[in-house]
Amino acid sequence: LDNENFVDESSRVLEFIADYYKNVGNYPVRSQVKPGYLQKLSPNSAPYFPESLETILGDIQTDILPGLTHWQSPNFFAYFQANASTAAFLGEMLCTGLNVVGFNWISSPAATELEAIVVDWMGKMLKLPQSFLFSGGGGGVLHGSTCEAIVCTLAAARDKALNELGADKITKLVVYGSDQTHFTLQKASKLVGINPNNFRTIKTSTLTSFALAPDDVRATMEADLASGLVPLFLCATIGTTALGAVDSLEGLGQVAKDYEVWFHVDAAYGGSACICPEFRQYLNGIELVDSISMNPHKWFLTNMDCCCLWVKNPSTLVDSLSTSPEILRNKATESKKVVDYKDWQIALSRRFRALKLWLVIRRYGVANLMEHIRSDIKLAKKFEGFVVEDERFEVVVPRKFALVCFRLKPRRSEEDGSKLNWKLLEEVNSSGKAFMTHAVVDGTFLIRCAIGGTFTEERHIDGLWKLIQEKAADLVIETCY
Ligand code: PLP
Repeated sequence: LDNENFVDESSRVLEFIADYYKNVGNYPVRSQVKPGYLQKLSPNSAPYFPESLETILGDIQTDILPGLTHWQSPNFFAYFQANASTAAFLGEMLCTGLNVVGFNWISSPAATELEAIVVDWMGKMLKLPQSFLFSGGGGGVLHGSTCEAIVCTLAAARDKALNELGADKITKLVVYGSDQTHFTLQKASKLVGINPNNFRTIKTSTLTSFALAPDDVRATMEADLASGLVPLFLCATIGTTALGAVDSLEGLGQVAKDYEVWFHVDAAYGGSACICPEFRQYLNGIELVDSISMNPHKWFLTNMDCCCLWVKNPSTLVDSLSTSPEILRNKATESKKVVDYKDWQIALSRRFRALKLWLVIRRYGVANLMEHIRSDIKLAKKFEGFVVEDERFEVVVPRKFALVCFRLKPRRSEEDGSKLNWKLLEEVNSSGKAFMTHAVVDGTFLIRCAIGGTFTEERHIDGLWKLIQEKAADLVIETCY
């Protein structure tokens, strides 16, 4: 690494990215390329001699950018947003630049200690009980994704149970979520060896605004116990993926307590909002929970990737995931006075992610982070207002955060509206002017408008609604003839 060249080339890449951000609103939001397009543009084998940065950046401009779906476009309303910010970018640069691998304390003490500090800060911002903080006997860790966090907590719950029941009882363990729980729970269950027949998807409905009903969970657990199975793990969600629904931690926590199951909260999306006092109520009952995860890389101005996981009893995680190879033996670990984060995650190697979250919190402060959430909610309310005012449309489920689920009402009673709304969504997305995604809930096809992109402003919401109205009008005309 030649320092002079490093500064020069890094500056050119920074300029490239700054230019990209300046123009990001002008690209078609959803990529318009066809499968295999890049293969046709790329040489068959690796270059034998080095190529210039100019050539490579030129290829990125001409070949790579058209194949991107522009998640940072102000007109990106799909999935859930992946916030970017200057502070997180700087933190990411520092992480990559310093490039330390803090798998245990001694391998980079500051990496471990800063992570512990920053997850405690986040925990306090969410007003988690003291028992989730290092200072209160619990603790947190930064993972790359909620998927990893759930695999790790499920492995910890499994091993805790099997230590008591005997390893041969693994076939009896049952995992519970709802039909709105993220599919990562099912994947994690498979990965930790839960019998696929013992994965319960409890149905939700409009009656509970798509939240898990504690009585249904209780009844399902009772039935499992009656057939000789062992309830193991219950996952609640604060802000479900399809609809942004919220499960009640108070009601479910009591069930989890009664049946002695591990209770996890997936707050990947909604967790960020809970730093604002007006949304903190969604975490009421958190004291009944064993673990909670949330993704700053969604709605907390933190570039990919960053997931906070807190556990009340870190020793369960460590008992399940720790290894002690001779090659890593050191005095600090043996003193038992330090955290070795390799024992809180799947991989050995790990990035210094804490820098990124630390910069975000320090550079913006809690006040601006709350303002960031509130301004997105305000935009979502505005969009929701447009939907409500137009009698051709309806809001399908009550909005909790900045996700609005809506659809064109079916025009005839015999229609379910799916084809019409699919067509509307496709018309909007293929225009390249905006990108939204869909969900099907209880047989109802709906369009999800997830507001919260870093660059999205009021004018983009106005533009989106105008586009939807135009496309909807065309559809109505088409079907009249
Ligand atoms: N849980 C919920 C509620 C989500 O919405 C998502 C992603 O959108 C996930 C989990 C998965 O998160 P990750 O990609 O960090 O694994």
